[in-house]
Amino acid sequence: MDTDVDNRLYASCSSCGHVLGRALSGSDNEVQCPKCGAKINYKVAESIVTVTLLEPSTKLPSKKAEKKHLKAYNNLASAVSQ
Ligand SMILES: [Zn+2]
Repeated sequence: MDTDVDNRLYASCSSCGHVLGRALSGSDNEVQCPKCGAKINYKVAESIVTVTLLEPSTKLPSKKAEKKHLKAYNNLASAVSQ
């Protein structure tokens, strides 16, 4: 099982960041995020994982995600004011 360890990549939900699972090179999967319910397609080609959001989550973004966005915004704001 560990022979493909170098090709091991993880696909994560582009909506909430939940790790969907291991993706092997050449895979093309359509999954529903167990955490937020968003429909996602992930493809792996040449060690690059492409995650496409097919249907956005029907749930509200998590507190964690909101905090992350706020932090990014604050960093941007402070960079501008200096
Ligand atoms: Zn999700």
